[in-house]
Amino acid sequence: MTAKVIDGKAFAANVRAQVQAHVARLAKDNGIQPGLAVVLVGEDPASKVYVKNKHASTIEVGMASFEHRLPAETSEADLLDLVRSLNADPKVHGILVQLPLPAHLNSELIINTIDPAKDVDGFHISNVGLLGTGQKSMVPCTPLGCLMMLRDHHGKLAGLNAVVVGRSNIVGKPMAQLLLGDSCTVTIAHSRTKDLAAVCRGADILVAAVGRPEMLTGDYVKPGATVIDVGINRIERDGKAKLVGDVHYESAAAVAGAITPVPGGVGPMTIACLLANTLTACCRANGLAEPEGLTA
Ligand code: NDP
Repeated sequence: MTAKVIDGKAFAANVRAQVQAHVARLAKDNGIQPGLAVVLVGEDPASKVYVKNKHASTIEVGMASFEHRLPAETSEADLLDLVRSLNADPKVHGILVQLPLPAHLNSELIINTIDPAKDVDGFHISNVGLLGTGQKSMVPCTPLGCLMMLRDHHGKLAGLNAVVVGRSNIVGKPMAQLLLGDSCTVTIAHSRTKDLAAVCRGADILVAAVGRPEMLTGDYVKPGATVIDVGINRIERDGKAKLVGDVHYESAAAVAGAITPVPGGVGPMTIACLLANTLTACCRANGLAEPEGLTA
């Protein structure tokens, strides 16, 4: 079998187009412009690139983008003041504090100071609890993107066996909650799981969020399964820099029914879902109907 390639780039472009159309309707019908504030502390090169891309994508869909770049030595009190002022700003519907923060800042305290209704990353403890109890919440962007692609590919997910490899708070755990919410039978695997390959071979849906280049080979994949590769690993091969996932693409694609490539799979969905979450937050703040198909 050769797997169908799930084109995350095209999927994300479609999500962004839907967001853009909804934003245009909000402006026309309600005179409202969704706004996203992104806070970057320090000079981390990868974070700077992410923030630049988020700004450009926000503008592209017609939203307002508010960028706050602060020096690495910013005090916790100053950062908390900024977060509180963004909480109070009616033009700001989404707030994202780019992680990781410099070591002297308490990330949990900062994130938990964001108004949960504006927490478009879905990392606030209230949103974690709401998701865990099946209530309306802001959902972390990367797992939301994976869920959208899975729903599109399968239609209904109910009854499917899903294995999520990785139990981080930003990917693995919320991914498992979302799949459970769609009535999958969910297993969460991690570094202490025994016979991981056998566990993975039980999966109709296999989500890899491990952070280890090409670890899950075709031996981990049930014939016909859908493989979602969240991993982003920078490696060097034949003297060249290369981006690979947590899944060994060639061997897995030979067994799977469908698979996301790296790059061009889950990656582009993360920013698209950040924009979708900002739109959702804006609609909720204004008592308007939420965009269909763009939430969990
Ligand atoms: P973390 O490092 O926080 O978590 C990795 C998880 O993988 C842990 O739960 C760990 O288990 C588990 N793990 C590690 N080694 C093994 C192993 N040998 N066998 C089984 N499980 C193992 O990573 P993240 O969740 O933050 O990220 C995962 C991947 O997704 C990374 O490649 C990251 O770059 C990528 N990513 C991509 C995004 C995107 O936009 N596409 C966004 C966020 C992340 P344990 O808990 O037992 O240690």
